[in-house]
Amino acid sequence: MNTTAACVVCHSALWQDELDRMACRRCTLRISDDLSALPGLYEQLGGALAPGSRAGGPAVSGSRTAPLPLRLAPLSLSAKGGVVTVLQTWLVDVHELLEYPHPRWEGDLVGQCRQVVARLQLLLPWIAENHPAVDEFAREIRQLRGQCVAQVTGERPVRTVAVACPCGATLRITLDTLGRRCTCGEQYGREALLGLPLAERREVAA
Ligand SMILES: [Zn+2]
Ligand SMILES: [Zn+2]
Repeated sequence: MNTTAACVVCHSALWQDELDRMACRRCTLRISDDLSALPGLYEQLGGALAPGSRAGGPAVSGSRTAPLPLRLAPLSLSAKGGVVTVLQTWLVDVHELLEYPHPRWEGDLVGQCRQVVARLQLLLPWIAENHPAVDEFAREIRQLRGQCVAQVTGERPVRTVAVACPCGATLRITLDTLGRRCTCGEQYGREALLGLPLAERREVAA
């Protein structure tokens, strides 16, 4: 018996036919979309490892930062302990909850990335309906995608914005935040969060 009346990810009210789910359909689709982006990005990270390289684009001269011998952020994302390990840890967790045998990994890390994503996609309907930490899952998958995109494209990490709840508390969010619960107990969905007034003035370039 599940008494959750709101999606645990975005905090929006569940439809009548979604009441037995932890995450709403929209969030489930979003997780699926984030998951499916990962193998391609992961492969591109290999290219981002070469000093000064930008995978998939022409080399840019006069870049603002001096090239390092090895760009460390993509390394930590692509090495063991990065993207693949995070995904595999979730898959092991789901297998344990379902009392399935421990999943096996085969091939190189790029191949393992594809395998674990395919497997998680297959289990996603179950995860969205039943996994008590599906909100954490959604957040981590989104973060991984954001970090990979930032590394592959050379974009800077997403900026945090502070918004004010009417209770006086400050909530730090990014444009990717799907939902948040304030300490006063108020639950905000994505749209409601973005509609809150800014808690601090952002500097405006003269
Ligand atoms: Zn949702
Ligand atoms: Zn509040």
